[in-house]
Amino acid sequence: MAEKVESEIVRRGGQPAFPTGVGVNEITAHYAPQEDETGVIQESDVVKIDYGVHIDGYVADTSITLTENPQYQSLLEATEKALQAAIDVVKHDRRIGEIGRAIDSTAKREGFRPISNLSGHTVQQYIVHAGKSIPNVYAPNLPMLKNDDVFAIEPFLTLADAAGYIVEGSQENIFSLVVRRKTGNKELDELMDLVWDARKTLPFTPRWYSGRYKEGRLLALLKELEKRRLVRSYGTLIEASGKPVAQFEHTMAIDEKGLVILT
Ligand code: MN
Ligand code: MN
Repeated sequence: MAEKVESEIVRRGGQPAFPTGVGVNEITAHYAPQEDETGVIQESDVVKIDYGVHIDGYVADTSITLTENPQYQSLLEATEKALQAAIDVVKHDRRIGEIGRAIDSTAKREGFRPISNLSGHTVQQYIVHAGKSIPNVYAPNLPMLKNDDVFAIEPFLTLADAAGYIVEGSQENIFSLVVRRKTGNKELDELMDLVWDARKTLPFTPRWYSGRYKEGRLLALLKELEKRRLVRSYGTLIEASGKPVAQFEHTMAIDEKGLVILT
């Protein structure tokens, strides 16, 4: 699935802005399948596909959730409604706290709850998560959105009896360069150059480069670069009580004429 999404992005003239996420049930974000993936999606599963496109580093980030499970159709519908409610707020109100409030109140009215510690975000060239966060709940003292901000809004909803927050799992299959610096180690420097040329500071996944390395070598090099703080990793994010999570996301921009939805 991930490779199908990414090859379609390339066929249409873009590049993946980050590794395609396939989040099944309680796996909420930052799960990028690898080439040795053995997991199979079941009809009962709630599946989030989170993907992004960049052109010259300019990022669009979007996601959809799919399920064949009738039990969770209303969860998906509520999440789409929460995203729409947030978009309706942004059209006339640039206070980020009010966007979160609209997501939270829509979720609760529909009988669900938002994931309280995941947020939308502004994007900048070669940066997927830039300065401003857009939480899925109300919070005071947040900045305003302003003209020329480009940002993603992404409600994550789960069941009313779920914990309603995510914890970090042990799996790490998404990485990004923190800074480009020579290490003096030929193998490390070659990997840094490879990633920098293709990605700059945008996230990547070992699946994209593992064909160039003997088994296990790429991960060992990434661990070494992480230890030297030249690479950072992103752990898989999991709903704390193991309940299914749905997500819908759009990237949008504010200009002097109003709101433009980019995805
Ligand atoms: Mn996304
Ligand atoms: Mn996002």
